[in-house]
Amino acid sequence: MKNTVNTPAPLVRGYEVVIGLETHAQLSTASKAFSGASTRFGAEPNTQACAVDLALPGTLPVLNRGAVERAIRFGLAVGATVAPLSIFARKNYFYPDLPKGYQISQYETPVVQGGFVEFVLAGEPRRVRLTRAHLEEDAGKSLHEDYAGQTGIDLNRAGTPLLEIVTEPDMRSAAEAVEYARALHTLVMWLGICDGNLQEGSFRCDANVSVRRPGATYGTRREIKNLNSFRFLQEAIDAEVNWQIDLIEDGGTVQQATVLFDTDSGQTRAMRTKEDAHDYRYFPDPDLPPLVIADAWVQAVREAMPELPGAMARRFEQQYGLAPYDAAQMTQSRAFAAYFEEAAGSGANAKLVANWLMGEVSKRLNAAGADIAASPVGPLLLAALVRRVQDDTLSSSGARQVFERLWTSPAGEGAEPSEPLARVDALVDALGLRQVNDGAALQAIVQAVLADNPKLVDDVRAGKDKALNALVGQAMKRSQGKANPGQLGELFRRSIG
Ligand code: ADP
Ligand code: MG
Repeated sequence: MKNTVNTPAPLVRGYEVVIGLETHAQLSTASKAFSGASTRFGAEPNTQACAVDLALPGTLPVLNRGAVERAIRFGLAVGATVAPLSIFARKNYFYPDLPKGYQISQYETPVVQGGFVEFVLAGEPRRVRLTRAHLEEDAGKSLHEDYAGQTGIDLNRAGTPLLEIVTEPDMRSAAEAVEYARALHTLVMWLGICDGNLQEGSFRCDANVSVRRPGATYGTRREIKNLNSFRFLQEAIDAEVNWQIDLIEDGGTVQQATVLFDTDSGQTRAMRTKEDAHDYRYFPDPDLPPLVIADAWVQAVREAMPELPGAMARRFEQQYGLAPYDAAQMTQSRAFAAYFEEAAGSGANAKLVANWLMGEVSKRLNAAGADIAASPVGPLLLAALVRRVQDDTLSSSGARQVFERLWTSPAGEGAEPSEPLARVDALVDALGLRQVNDGAALQAIVQAVLADNPKLVDDVRAGKDKALNALVGQAMKRSQGKANPGQLGELFRRSIG
């Protein structure tokens, strides 16, 4: 299938960049992929690896149904084929954090085949094709930093279920790789199949990067391992692209390799020459029968699917008249979208609600490192505030002051009413912010300001717009910030003629 959506990206120093991503999403099951041991993060080292996770003699793996169900949900969400039959294989290698000597994975026949992820890059719709997504187990962790001169091994993570999501080499810039990764991250959390926690390693990307002259065949790639932040993904690809171009310009050739990104130096550094598939001696795991997924199961998962972020964003554009950018922001998570819909559905102007969510609310949530579900100002309260801006009770600056109070003083404090609109109104009065919209009162202020500022009046007559703003500013000051600035401007213009 040819990729018809993406247009070429700008070249870097005359080269085209080609990127394919492999993402490991940790599936949010309570127990491991093939054992009943807990997947909880942060336990004492080596307290959550059971005999099955270590493949001790006499044990047998039993596939976790929840992990398969999550893979199906993902496959349906990206328009992939959910394979009715897939095979678990052993990928053989030795590493201290894999003492059993092999990782259970899927090789020739993965559970999810094909599909695509769509997102927006600098206002342009993009589509990245998926090759596959397969189920596998994670290895343990080597702890190099905790012991001087020694390496600790923690096997708690061994056997944790992963979905490895592999793209075609469809991305053409670091920025595009980042937007793809963000869209994928949003999607897996939206589907409830992965907690998306980047710090804890629940979502990590390997970036395959090559460069070529436009029109040439693909160059040799190097694979940057284990990038667990969007910033590192961007920086690592940029560094790698420049390294490859430098090498080629110096007359060298890129050798296929696995590299690490050193976050201190900002450089990529070769870790090992790249293994080929035959190095791993893949063979079907004799302890696990083929995974057979009945149609009825796929159908049941399909029926339980939530509305997906892309579809919801398009609905927000139509139903609420949001711009595409705003609709994408409102669908950054299910909790965010639910908040927006509850506020917009209760009679507040949707565009204003979106602006408040992208502005004040996000600013404060980010500062507090909090999720929207923990917002001290709930959707109905925000809607009440927005309605008071709509009906001119509050100016936008007055609304920000009320918002500040709503944010910092939890509901029910003091004698405040609990009904949202009444609560907002009580604060408007307590803070003396009720906007003056009365024509006669405003006209009196305008006359006084005109009398005091003949020079500004002359300037307005001479066509200086700034002078009009200065007059409105004077009037706002005289009204202690309560006058309706829009009406003031209108009155000044009429009075000066
Ligand atoms: P493996 O890493 O196990 O060898 P593959 O060979 O299937 O697996 O490729 C892994 C990833 O590398 C895929 O995401 C693929 O799109 C990407 N890839 C393949 N060839 C190139 C290339 N020339 N440049 C950049 N990425 C590539
Ligand atoms: Mg790989």
